[in-house]
Parts: sequence; C-alpha cells; structure tokens
Amino acid sequence: MHVLVVEDDPTIADPLLAGLVRAGFTVAHAATGHAALEPTDADCILLDLGLPDIDGIDVCRRLRAASAVPIIVVSARADELDRVMLLELGADDYVVKPFGMRELVARIRAVTRRAGPTPEEPAELIDAGALQIDLRTRRVTINGTEVELTPKEFDILALLAADPGTVHTRHRILETVWDAHWYGPTKTLDVHIASLRRKLRHPEWIETVRGIGFRFESPPVQPTE
Ligand code: CA
Repeated sequence: MHVLVVEDDPTIADPLLAGLVRAGFTVAHAATGHAALEPTDADCILLDLGLPDIDGIDVCRRLRAASAVPIIVVSARADELDRVMLLELGADDYVVKPFGMRELVARIRAVTRRAGPTPEEPAELIDAGALQIDLRTRRVTINGTEVELTPKEFDILALLAADPGTVHTRHRILETVWDAHWYGPTKTLDVHIASLRRKLRHPEWIETVRGIGFRFESPPVQPTE
C-alpha cells in the first residue's frame, strides 16, 4: 500500500514518513499543494490543510475532482475542521494533530477498505471452499485466517487455483510467475511449491504430476459450526 504524505513541516513529515514505513507502507512526500496535485499512484493521501502555496481545502477539492483516491485530512486544529464540509469536499476522514501512529494506520486501513474496488479494477476472488484468494488485495485466507505468502508463492497459488483440476506444466508456471523467457534452474519452482504447501498446511491441495507439473485440487468446504 502506497501512501502520499502532503505536509510542509519537516518536523512532522519526517517522523510520519518513518512511522508509515515501519508500519509496512511505501511512502511519497509532497511539501506543497502544487506537488500534491502531481499525478500519483498513491492508494491513500494524507493531506495537511495548512500548506504554504495552496489552501489545503482547495487541494482536497482538486484531488477529489481528479481521482477517487482515499484522502485523510490532517489538521493541527480541531476547530479548523468542519467534518461535513470536508466530506462534501471529498475527504474520507480526518485526524487532528497530535495523533498516534496506531490510530492513523487504522484509519488508513479503514478508508482504503471502504474505497473498495474501482470500476476499472473489479474485485476478483477465487473461492475454493476453505481457501479464499483475493486477487485484488493479494490476501489468502483459510477458513478466515490469513496466510502470509511471498509474492511468488501468491502468484503460483493464484495461477493454479484459478483453474482447479488442470495440470499446469512447470514451464508454463515459470513463464507466468517468473519471466516469459525463463532459462534458469527449475529447482526454484520446487522450493516455492514446498514452501507454499507448508504454509497452506494442506500439502494435498497442490498435487505433483510427476514429470509434467502441478495441479490444484479444490479443498472441501468446511462445515460451519
Ligand atoms: Ca502545515
């Protein structure tokens, strides 16, 4: 998740950026309103209202006119904030300085969840009974419990699970997940498959088809309690 921090005061911006990185986000920094209005691929924008060049309210309105990216307004003074006005301008939420990193992270997660899929990016879910793979958020859960996978492990699982029962050749998996022209050792694939099976805790879901490749077997739906 990529967060753009719009903040002119380095004594606030620096620790904020560092805290977001520690919380697992990638960050970009804009110190002026003009910089904030540059095209961005941010998943969320933290917007300070007191900027040196353009009024933050105006920046908020212009950002919203240009994109649907979630915006959290950050302000030094609670009385600057008129929640109704901010929401009308298109802000998704606001925090008042000083704020805790934990609170901020929770709000970022909430607004980005709420923003949901954009029309160009439909929600895609592979629903294989006990196993759920969300292709948009790249989250994998088993019976509702999240499983942490590496990017390559995720790609392998998504490829196999998208077409259960079908044998995927080693060559095709390497081409799809690694590179269109993979000439390296195919042992890499076995290492990733072994790790993936271990993490899924159900090695039988990924079946080895000797000499050819791998096949995903849909796990049975767990009876609900
Ligand atoms: Ca400021």
